[in-house]
Amino acid sequence: MNREPATPDLVAVRDDFRALEGYHSAQVDVDVRLNTNESPFAPPPAWLDDYRAQLADLAWNRYPDRAATELRAAIAGWHGVDVGQVFAANGSNEVLQTLLLAYAGPGRTVVVFEPTYQMHAQIARITGATVVAGQRNEDFTLDIDEVRQVVTEAQPAVTFVCSPNNPTGMVESPEVLDAVVETAPGLVVVDEAYAQFSSWSALERVAEDRPLVVTRTFSKTWSMAAARLGYLVGPSWVVAQLEKVVLPYHLDAAKQLAGRLALRYVDDMERRVSQLVEERGRVTVGLSDLGVEVFPSGANFVLFRLADHDAVAVWKSLVDQGVLVRDCSGWGRLDGCLRVTIGLPAENDRFLAALAIALDVAPARSTGATR
Ligand SMILES: *Cc1c(COP(=O)(O)O)cnc(C)c1O
Repeated sequence: MNREPATPDLVAVRDDFRALEGYHSAQVDVDVRLNTNESPFAPPPAWLDDYRAQLADLAWNRYPDRAATELRAAIAGWHGVDVGQVFAANGSNEVLQTLLLAYAGPGRTVVVFEPTYQMHAQIARITGATVVAGQRNEDFTLDIDEVRQVVTEAQPAVTFVCSPNNPTGMVESPEVLDAVVETAPGLVVVDEAYAQFSSWSALERVAEDRPLVVTRTFSKTWSMAAARLGYLVGPSWVVAQLEKVVLPYHLDAAKQLAGRLALRYVDDMERRVSQLVEERGRVTVGLSDLGVEVFPSGANFVLFRLADHDAVAVWKSLVDQGVLVRDCSGWGRLDGCLRVTIGLPAENDRFLAALAIALDVAPARSTGATR
């Protein structure tokens, strides 16, 4: 992975692809993997039994239900919306890609507020759109005056809000979200990959006469990252456009079944979420006790900043001790920052113990610019 190809390109790639880098997240084989915000829990055993049993009854020789009607109806029922207001795809990343193919593309502008989830800008650029990045405040909150200024100037076709925001963990308030929807001229996309871990969701703002969509995923809360399933809830006129973009039968029958059955286990999912929220509190306290700056999080991860240590050396020491977290220290405005996913209690203990050792052995941060 991520290695230079052995043979140079024989055919030139699209001009605008030359400066593009792919998405990189280390997949290192360690005991404790706390770097990609998955659920640490296996799915409920009863879900797996149901799934196994019903897989046998799938019409394997036939294409799947192209409209994923039953899955969408189950999602719509859960959220109390119309089935025509739900669109499902292979992970919320494919939902985002489909949205951007329909509403962004060449000659159009997409606005993001940094630091935020890198794939929003990445996918927008792949569709040929221009990306304009506004900046969050020093504490990573979203400033409405900055939003107003950026969207007034850029006139974006799509404006992204990520709540809770990855990688900072911050949840946007209803007031901020309403102001964004009022100010932005195009479609507002609220990426809620982590919404179940927070106290407020923009789902309640979705309406036919409001250009707002909310994207969700089964990867983070549903213990189903391996299955790749995500969806959005939004006005039916948006869903109708997205259906023109996706490939025929893009969502396979096994996955439609997996998602439909998962929704029978909402109680289990919610129990797991509350366990992780409790652990998040414990990890936050543990980090503060180690004298580390912690950013408040409404997600299943915590961003923290090492003011006095070389963050890359700390990250390496953690890996040496069998604990993998995300090194964000090279990303814009995240100097000295690492992000840890909340795991099982024993994993979180291992992380905190390893970090205490890493802070002892890692060199102090050199003063002056290092990057
Ligand atoms: C993980 C993540 C996603 C990706 O979700 P998939 O459904 O696995 O594609 C989308 N948005 C944010 C903010 C994420 O952190």
